[in-house]
Amino acid sequence: RRRGENDAIQCYTEQMKVDALARLSMESALRKAFEGDQFALVYQPKVDADRGCVVGGEALVRWHHPTEGVVGPAAFIPLIEEMGLIGQLGQWVLTRACEDIARWCRDGVPLVPIAVNLSALQFGRQDLHESIRDTLAAHGVAPEMIELEVTESILMRDTRATAEVLEGLHGLGLSLAVDDFGTGYSSLAYLKRFAVDTLKIDRSFVQDCAGTGQDPAIVRAIIAMAQSLGMALVAEGVETEAQARVLQAHGCAVMQGYLFARPLAEADFRAALCDGLPG
Ligand code: C2E
Ligand code: CA
Ligand code: CA
Ligand code: CA
Repeated sequence: RRRGENDAIQCYTEQMKVDALARLSMESALRKAFEGDQFALVYQPKVDADRGCVVGGEALVRWHHPTEGVVGPAAFIPLIEEMGLIGQLGQWVLTRACEDIARWCRDGVPLVPIAVNLSALQFGRQDLHESIRDTLAAHGVAPEMIELEVTESILMRDTRATAEVLEGLHGLGLSLAVDDFGTGYSSLAYLKRFAVDTLKIDRSFVQDCAGTGQDPAIVRAIIAMAQSLGMALVAEGVETEAQARVLQAHGCAVMQGYLFARPLAEADFRAALCDGLPG
């Protein structure tokens, strides 16, 4: 028995070595990703189900790893954050989105606001306001064309500094959306304190909103609350006609999810803006 324990410990430390090595190699691969221009943006349409048209898009980052193929953000953003590189990635994302918007505009593509995700860590940086303002200006992109998606954890910090940064960004003309709404905290007081324009109902509630559990009631409550606070709504992760029908019936017309479109390569998103979604 003793012996088994030791084996287990031995095995555990071996595993830690393997993990540490994997991590080191991923860190160095990520540093190279910046130099090698291996990041890309895809755009997922937001669709107004009442009008049947694309009313927005969300920029989502992908990593084109030289040997592993396309890697999603969940697999590398936490590490990027730990490495202290999230500011650099966030800047890259905003710059690329602005470049795309400016090109669409030049080419006469009908524009919709594009949302970018802000990490909580980016939010703490002093130069966030200036860098966003300067990036928009450098590309001639109107602030109304950019929406920032922030998670509840940012808003819950509830410091004067947070409020000031949000007010400042709002003052620039950018709109703000609370991402993954409903998953974070029970206090909703922050919604009144901060200049938030849009609530994005988290996929976990949308998933079962057409079912018989608690979630239909939660979704109805979120929609009613957003309406009474004068906020816009987006339901994320809509995958079935049944979910879409329930959301639409309760007054949430704007939806994002595989039912309408997956995140699209730039050329496909551009085509969707010009010609609508296929099908
Ligand atoms: P998120 O902001 O909640 O983005 C929505 C995620 O749900 C995306 O995953 C999207 O591909 C996925 N999704 C959309 N519709 C459906 C659906 O109908 N069903 C299902 N099952 N999933 C759906 P993705 O692209 O892997 O991004 C994951 C998360 O990574 C994002 O969650 C966001 O928090 C973060 N992220 C993505 N891009 C960036 C970025 O540029 N900066 C930062 N800081 N975070 C990012
Ligand atoms: Ca988001
Ligand atoms: Ca989300
Ligand atoms: Ca989510």
